[in-house]
Amino acid sequence: MNSPPRFAVASRRVVTPEGTRAAAVIINGGRIEAIVNRDHVPSEVPVEDFDDLVISPGLVDAHVHINEPGRTDWEGFASATRAAAAGGVTTLVDMPLNSSPVTTTVAALEEKRAAAAGQCWVDVAFHAGLVPDNLADVEPLLDAGVCGVKAFMCDSGLDEFPATGEREFRQILPLLARRRVPLLVHAELTDEHATAVEIRNYADWLASRPESFERNAINLLRALCAEYLAPIHVVHLASGPLTSHFFWAKQDGLPLTVETCPHYLHFYAERLEGADPRFKCAPPIRRKEDRARLWEALIAGVIDTIGSDHSPCPPDMKHLASGDWQSSWGGISSVELTLPIVWRGLRTQIAPFTRVAEWLSANPARLVGLADRKGRIAVGCDADLCIWNHEEEWTVVGEQLQHRHKLTPYEGERLRGRVQRTYVRGQLAYEDGKFPAGPIGELLRRNP
Ligand SMILES: [Zn+2]
Repeated sequence: MNSPPRFAVASRRVVTPEGTRAAAVIINGGRIEAIVNRDHVPSEVPVEDFDDLVISPGLVDAHVHINEPGRTDWEGFASATRAAAAGGVTTLVDMPLNSSPVTTTVAALEEKRAAAAGQCWVDVAFHAGLVPDNLADVEPLLDAGVCGVKAFMCDSGLDEFPATGEREFRQILPLLARRRVPLLVHAELTDEHATAVEIRNYADWLASRPESFERNAINLLRALCAEYLAPIHVVHLASGPLTSHFFWAKQDGLPLTVETCPHYLHFYAERLEGADPRFKCAPPIRRKEDRARLWEALIAGVIDTIGSDHSPCPPDMKHLASGDWQSSWGGISSVELTLPIVWRGLRTQIAPFTRVAEWLSANPARLVGLADRKGRIAVGCDADLCIWNHEEEWTVVGEQLQHRHKLTPYEGERLRGRVQRTYVRGQLAYEDGKFPAGPIGELLRRNP
């Protein structure tokens, strides 16, 4: 596709790393050529003025499960990337499960790239997986351009993606330290005090996966991070008190970073009474006090990134009718909703647009090795933009979401902030329910 012509978008709220200001962003050949005062745009450049709307950097979602090939009936590249575009996400990074095959070899990565080619509405990159029998595959996967290496310290739910732990991490961390590629970890580690709990309500689910599981895992990861000085990124932190571990790791200068997810910032366990499988995810959604601590840690810069952990499955796998919690698939689909969930949650907090852009765009772009072109409104970067109304409140209707299966725990939730346009490399990927540019998404590789 040809690069779009030179043009500019302007508003009173252009979110740059240095702050939010009235400006025009001049776009040329899909990149940001300049950020200038509105009346300094050269007369031959057409300008579209968005007045009070916010022009933010496109979101970089480093945690999305697309499931294609192999489980495309759960979610596929076309539906997931359209949902992303509708949510202002301009780059997403696909997790190595739950596709089939899982992305644990270069051959599987190439299968995935072939499946994605030509059906992505936004730019897409890939994480690889670490399992007990693929240690020799990790370096070739890095050479092939994966953004991170994902491991589970507990059962992943998939037989073909077994858990790993200290033994495998010690073997792989020297390589990741040398290559500066993060180990992404699902950090729950059971202990001998764990007891089987029959799940009748959400409190039972919480009791079955206590905070100590997260603590066990994070203690080990912090020690390994200090020993190998390899980048380790804990995904989907749910516990509020454990944020202090990341504060101290940062004080010590360790490359230990952490993500949380929209559902931990929006819901809380006291609100969830029965065992409604739509809310099943691991770690579980914890108490209201945890939620408050997660927000504090975000605002203090202790939590680095927010990833959706978009993890869909067909509705029948949720077993809503029978309420069979144990066999219900865990995972929440929200790639399209991250921005309005976060912005609504911020209503009672104080954080400027620039901080939101760090959590949702700049920090994840740095994590996945794409910060030279993604995650910022800055000269030379890709013109990936999310143009949104920060005052609009609206109610989620699952049927109107773009991802494959419409079942969502956010059904009926009031959110705040609505995406109106999404530009991917200067091309209009999304506008008011339409996708004018088509499947223009590129498949990206991490920079060496
Ligand atoms: Zn995940």
